[in-house]
Amino acid sequence: MIIYTASSDVALAFDDGPNPKVTPRLLKVLADKGVLANFFLIGKRTEESPELAKQIANAGHEIGNHSYTHKRLSALRQEAGEAAALEEIQKGAEAIKRVTGFETHFFRPPYLDWSVELGKLTQPLYGNQIIMASTKSGDYGWGKDHNWDETDAEAIRLQASRIINDWADAPAGTILCLHDSAEYNLPGNSYYDDWMNRALPTLEALPAVIDHFHAKGFKFKKLSDMDLIPVPLLSQ
Ligand SMILES: [Zn+2]
Repeated sequence: MIIYTASSDVALAFDDGPNPKVTPRLLKVLADKGVLANFFLIGKRTEESPELAKQIANAGHEIGNHSYTHKRLSALRQEAGEAAALEEIQKGAEAIKRVTGFETHFFRPPYLDWSVELGKLTQPLYGNQIIMASTKSGDYGWGKDHNWDETDAEAIRLQASRIINDWADAPAGTILCLHDSAEYNLPGNSYYDDWMNRALPTLEALPAVIDHFHAKGFKFKKLSDMDLIPVPLLSQ
């Protein structure tokens, strides 16, 4: 089962962090705007930036689990078995709990790679709280040819305007999926440092995105404060 929202509220979700280059600045924007968001943290990155992870949690944002190392879980289950897939999820939850002190109540599958079997496997951990909704996102289509740099202001602004436009007509109940880091390239990978900047356009776009939805009368909510509707995975 997967959750969709159905209310007059919207949710901001940031995947793949924490990211020391972007997340602190993003937290400041959220604080300035008085908005609570949802952060789907990668367990390994949470261990690498413990103070930042604590800062997110202590600011009152929802902390969700996005696995320990962002593996494709459906593929992992098929190749390495159920125990390996479950361990990748549990290790993420344990790392987040150990670092922040908070229990995660929502899971977002990396790459949205999910199955009925995985849903059954994680039922005792997360029940129906598997967040698959609203994959449309202007900040999702990163390519390795695009290397955002702090000095690359024009390219960042252009990409930010795409993100703003992509979400402009999102209806009530939408989970706006954004990223405060790139989706993979964990430490040890040669691209790691470059990819930490991939969320700069998201950061640039965020104030306008928030203002846009506020102007439409929508409120930003934590997932635990929203009306969520579970739907069967196979009906998608
Ligand atoms: Zn991700």
